Amino acid sequence: MNLDDFQEIKELLSAPKKIAIVSHRNPDGDAYGSSLALYGYLLKLHHDVTFVSPNDSPNFLKWLPSENKIVIFEDSTEKATKILKEAKIIFILDFNATHRVGEKMQKVLDIVQPIFVMIDHHQQPGNFAQFTYVDPKVCSTSQMVYQFMDKLNHLSFIDKDIATCLYTGILTDTGSFRFPATTSDTHRIVANLLDKGASNSEIYNNIHNDSTYSRLQLLGKALQNMRVIEAYQTAYITLSQNELNSFNYQKGDTEGFVNYALSLKNVLFAAIFIEDKKQKIIKISFRSVGDFSVNDFSRNHFNGGGHINAAGGKSEVSLTETVTKFIELLPKYKKELKL
Ligand code: 5GP
Ligand code: MN
Repeated sequence: MNLDDFQEIKELLSAPKKIAIVSHRNPDGDAYGSSLALYGYLLKLHHDVTFVSPNDSPNFLKWLPSENKIVIFEDSTEKATKILKEAKIIFILDFNATHRVGEKMQKVLDIVQPIFVMIDHHQQPGNFAQFTYVDPKVCSTSQMVYQFMDKLNHLSFIDKDIATCLYTGILTDTGSFRFPATTSDTHRIVANLLDKGASNSEIYNNIHNDSTYSRLQLLGKALQNMRVIEAYQTAYITLSQNELNSFNYQKGDTEGFVNYALSLKNVLFAAIFIEDKKQKIIKISFRSVGDFSVNDFSRNHFNGGGHINAAGGKSEVSLTETVTKFIELLPKYKKELKL
């Protein structure tokens, strides 16, 4: 987007309007952090603004400022649909293709005709938005929202709550500032957020120190199930629906498990396959270190996408068949994955 585009958005936002914010299904810290930050900012500009999330969040995000104001499409479909239909502007945050909100909500997004503004950091954005502010090099959508406010000369609107939301999104999407997309700009932005009142230790505790006993037992099971394919510097984890049930699985419990597989010495490519009997799918997370693109891998073979080093996907065959397919694909990538 060029300066004229930001100027145009600034003018659009200069008079109160009905605005909706939408992020992706199965929200993570960045989806909620960026959306709730933008929500707080647009309220300060006196807009009639609602954040519509496709479905509910895991418990580790429930403490976020204004979390109780979110309208959940899955639970309040009629109300959410009305809001989306009446919105003059819809902000699309932390995703870039309408199918990421789930089938039912996608149908609504595909017929409404507001001005769409996409703020995101995933690769290969769809071209349905009038304004597309996307940079796949940036670590998080939350950092993009900060930059967006900066471009509009509105950093002074950031208060403690907005800073807390933005910090949360940056923290979670950078794996606590350790992934390569964490730059000196990220740290400068985070420093400013601390100055605005975000508390790094409180936020970290809220996000990471809320494990339940059964979640840690489930992690134990996941680690036992981990397999390593040394020849392709690959490791993967499986969790069946029965295993999830026996450890009282709650939404969000498996967040971060895949990183244990990636933390093995000499492993460049990691995956976790999680059976979801209700949706009749295997939900997959892929991670890599270095140049091997899990975005391409997932797009090409598992109906998904994301970033070079972190992507998601799904499969509609059984857990065993999915894993077999995965293993059989590896030789195709021997150039990238072999020692
Ligand atoms: P996760 O593995 O943590 O669910 O997702 C990793 C990254 O890939 C996130 O940036 C997420 O938004 C993206 N992602 C996850 N699942 C999908 C999917 O099914 N399709 C696409 N296009 N991206 C996904
Ligand atoms: Mn993100």
